[in-house]
Amino acid sequence: MNEIKTPKKPIIWYYIIVIAVLFLLNAAVFPYIAQSQIKEVDYGTFISMTEAHKIGQVQIQNNQILFTDKDEEQLYKTGLMDDPNLTDRLYDSGAEFSSEIIEEMSPVMAIFLNWVLPMLIFIGIGQFMYKKMVNKAGGPNSMMFGMGKSNAKVYVHSTEGIHFSDVAGEDEAKENLAEIVDYLHNPDKYKEIGASMPKGILLVGPPGTGKTMLAKAVAGEANVPFFSMSGSEFVEMFVGMGASKVRDLFKQAKEKAPCIVFIDEIDAIGKKRDGHIGGNDEREQTLNQLLTEMDGFEGNNGVIILAATNRPESLDPALTRPGRFDRRVPVELPDLQGREAILKVHAKKIKADPTIDYNKVARMASGASGAELANIVNEAALRAVRDGRNTATQADMEESIEVVIAGYQKKNAILTDREKQIVAYHEIGHALVAAKQSNSAPVQKITIVPRTSGALGYTMQVDEGNHYLMTKDEIENKIATFTGGRAAEEVKFGSVTTGASNDIEQATKLARAMITRYGMSEDFDMVAMETVNNQYLGGDTSLSCSAETQTEIDRQVVALVKKQHDKAAQILMENREKLDELSMYLYEKETITGEEFMRILNN
Ligand code: ADP
Ligand code: ZN
Repeated sequence: MNEIKTPKKPIIWYYIIVIAVLFLLNAAVFPYIAQSQIKEVDYGTFISMTEAHKIGQVQIQNNQILFTDKDEEQLYKTGLMDDPNLTDRLYDSGAEFSSEIIEEMSPVMAIFLNWVLPMLIFIGIGQFMYKKMVNKAGGPNSMMFGMGKSNAKVYVHSTEGIHFSDVAGEDEAKENLAEIVDYLHNPDKYKEIGASMPKGILLVGPPGTGKTMLAKAVAGEANVPFFSMSGSEFVEMFVGMGASKVRDLFKQAKEKAPCIVFIDEIDAIGKKRDGHIGGNDEREQTLNQLLTEMDGFEGNNGVIILAATNRPESLDPALTRPGRFDRRVPVELPDLQGREAILKVHAKKIKADPTIDYNKVARMASGASGAELANIVNEAALRAVRDGRNTATQADMEESIEVVIAGYQKKNAILTDREKQIVAYHEIGHALVAAKQSNSAPVQKITIVPRTSGALGYTMQVDEGNHYLMTKDEIENKIATFTGGRAAEEVKFGSVTTGASNDIEQATKLARAMITRYGMSEDFDMVAMETVNNQYLGGDTSLSCSAETQTEIDRQVVALVKKQHDKAAQILMENREKLDELSMYLYEKETITGEEFMRILNN
């Protein structure tokens, strides 16, 4: 894209500062430097030099005497004494009385010291700082110059800009935003009928789902300038400048209308204002300024504000009321088709083997965001290069999913023989429990190669398609699958290890959600005991029930997990021979595919 820098501001302030400092130096510092070249002698020396007729020029000042030697090479000074005949004696010695002894000493030197040198120093410093600033801020309009100026980047339409076709999946969001594009193309159509566009549109969704891309695509499709700024920059980069930067951003935008203003991470400024004493004044001022600006312009002036957030619930209600960010466009994690499309879009940028089954890759990467999928494709290309090939293959794609999800293979991690056995049994435990419960997704791949993420092995399950609803049975089976790893350790070795901590966490989370949120417990009926605070970021929850109920919830969660754990152990004991056979096979091979697993299981 063509990035256009805003024109340089007159740097008048800079010059004023330089001149002021020059005056200061000239008045105080340089005379001092000049003086320091004077050799101080005692009065006796002065008298004996006078008597020896060695004095050239002399000047008697209020509190000292300045004099030179006969050749006028060295300037001396001495204190003043009560010496009534001094003038006569000096006259006799042939000294010249002078009134401007210092200037006469070295006029060229004095001019140099007083004016030329400081100028050079300042020009040098100025150049240095200017260069540094331009490098750092990408433009001269930051820091000292043009204080409070928004450093929103201006992207002017360019053919290589991002378009809707670059954003794969997210069809609903694109449909929603297409209206904005149409409006920017043809505002009269809307004005005629009296419709006004929403001033602000909130793009809401988990990180890496393409919100920034969508905003850029709107600008790209409509061929209008794109101003972008991140909410955290408002509050972090320029302390005390947030409000004025907002003002400035909107001023720039209005001049360039029609245009798109994009505010990323708007939650950084738009968090709910609370009555806390010592709250973040800076942020509140910034937010207030934003609200004022949004109210200040009429609906149809062609400035459309897009903002992105992954915590919509934390936004101040004043921001989301009608007339401000009144439209909300969800940008969710991609579904199976979406993932496949995103993979294909990114695969176009690399040299990929045409036989790659993107559907399969997409199925393996369930739950991955757009950014992660882009990363998977890139990792595949890197892997191909590492192996000295010039196209990325299906195997590269599959391996890179594991890299992105579980980290790189840890080549030098050495498991003891027994550890390796335990890991093999643990992973087969998960897979076997999953496979034996008809409703669980089939296993794609099992591996016991340690990963840099710390996982010693894992079982990759694959969803056959999209799942929008889960039945109670399905969730219970999932919990049983999570406990299957630990159950296998118990069945085979009769002891347990720390390897199951992540399984425990996940199983507990699911069990808790069943009871507190999905109404799947025996006696709470359809009462919500927990609310989700942070839908897109990990989904932390807060309890909303009495202490007694909490105790009861805890009891039920434990009972639920325990029941599934017992079920898993039961399944494994019933299939003890298969467990041993599969585990030994995995132990030897280290990585086995879903097909191999099913073949051994079924014969
Ligand atoms: P967000 O703003 O939602 O956090 P971004 O728009 O910054 O996410 O996306 C980050 C990167 O992920 C993009 O540069 C792009 O490479 C990739 N990406 C995310 N979503 C998509 C998508 N739907 N289609 C294509 N690429 C995507
Ligand atoms: Zn496990």
